[in-house]
Amino acid sequence: PTAIHWFRRDLRLGDNPALIAAREAGDVLPLFVLDPAIWEKSGNPRKHFLAGCLAELHEATDGHLVVRHGKPEDVVPALAEEVGAASVHVAGDTGPYGRRRDAAVEKALGDVELVRTGSPYAVAPGTITKDDGTPFKVFTPFSRRWRDHGWHDPAPRPRTVTWTRADGEDLPEAPDMGDTAVLEPGESAARKRWEQFLDERIADYDDQRNRPDLDTTSRMSAHLHFGTVHPRTLLHDIAESGQTGTGVDTYVTELCWRDFYADVLWHRPETAREYYNDELKGMTYSSGKHADEDFEAWAAGRTGFPVVDAAMRQLLAEGWMHNRMRMITASFLVKDLHQEWTRGARYFMQHLVDGDLASNNHGWQWVAGTGTDAAPYFRVFNPVTQGQKFDPDGDYVRRYVPELRGIEGKAVHEPWKGDLPEGYPERIVDHKHEREVALDRYAKARGR
Ligand code: FAD
Repeated sequence: PTAIHWFRRDLRLGDNPALIAAREAGDVLPLFVLDPAIWEKSGNPRKHFLAGCLAELHEATDGHLVVRHGKPEDVVPALAEEVGAASVHVAGDTGPYGRRRDAAVEKALGDVELVRTGSPYAVAPGTITKDDGTPFKVFTPFSRRWRDHGWHDPAPRPRTVTWTRADGEDLPEAPDMGDTAVLEPGESAARKRWEQFLDERIADYDDQRNRPDLDTTSRMSAHLHFGTVHPRTLLHDIAESGQTGTGVDTYVTELCWRDFYADVLWHRPETAREYYNDELKGMTYSSGKHADEDFEAWAAGRTGFPVVDAAMRQLLAEGWMHNRMRMITASFLVKDLHQEWTRGARYFMQHLVDGDLASNNHGWQWVAGTGTDAAPYFRVFNPVTQGQKFDPDGDYVRRYVPELRGIEGKAVHEPWKGDLPEGYPERIVDHKHEREVALDRYAKARGR
């Protein structure tokens, strides 16, 4: 019989239990469904990444990958009927959109079985609970249990698969990114980058990970999101490498954050938009023309605060931003420009190649103080001192803000102290003042 393997967030052949299940069920027809609405909404860096992953998958399946455009609930059942498939295999998707989509596909498939195997996480969302069966609401106890729970061994890469063919459409074309520093797409690039990180950088990860001017983080986020690598593989490789120490420990903790936020979203899907913690429900925000102009200045990297502008321009150009910069820019929108986190989260989701509803929206909720954990709502990042601390020589700012390239060293974080270079904007707000306004708003919303 023919078994369709419908690739979604598992764009790889290695360590793919759902693909193994498909192979055990018959000859495998590899499918990717491209929803034109989603493709059109994606920025060039994401298009480039996804197109590159699909091109490699096409090659890895000896030219058999079928790409069809349309809504999955139409496309998948139609293809199953066309080729007489007995089953459709997928890696489970636990996000709110994926769950709805899969339920619709399952219904439309009728007698053809939709078989879910595995998930994109080391431990599937919903698995780890407190002793009384309720979900964890804070990270640290979750992470302890997560580590104790352990994870499965990686699935072997199938040595032989009998691929089967169907008509498809052209693979989507990767936009030309010129010499923009975009992440290399595909399973083999993920492997290469990961091996290098594990050999050369993970030991120093804890010391170095906050430096946006250096290349010290793993850059696995987009690979993990699209499944060109699975976190189980990373955790297994770390254990096999025999390395121990704070670098490895902190890195594993970061992978656990990813699982934690997916778990939170699994239990509370509405928190993709609504506040996890409704203590701040009554919060008011800036609105109107002035707020829109502020938002646009933020989005375009024209706030007059160098580190914020560098980060927002990196996001636009490359579709990625360093974690520390995500915190600083999110804090700036929420606490200096007094805008609701949902607006910033939407913008990030449009532009990030690794844009992931659970990690992104809960990352924003954390910054806004509406999320899980004892969130420091009173913590307002100072964009100048953060820049001086984490981009100590100013190299990161000069890389992304050409107007400031004439200013040497860390002075680049305060260009207003000299003659403001032509073309670079004045600061759109007074940080000290806005900080007070933010603290006041938070106090009022909390009823104090
Ligand atoms: P590394 O430092 O090498 O970390 C390794 C992996 O751990 C990452 O690839 C990621 O999968 C995971 N991880 C690290 N930090 C976090 C975290 N705080 N929360 C969840 N997982 C984490 N991450 C996304 O993958 N997608 C997003 O859309 C996203 N949006 C964010 C929005 C905001 C406002 C904030 C503060 C954080 C967001 N993050 C998001 C988390 C984090 O910034 C990125 O995962 C990280 O910068 C990706 O770079 P890296 O792969 O080099 O990370």
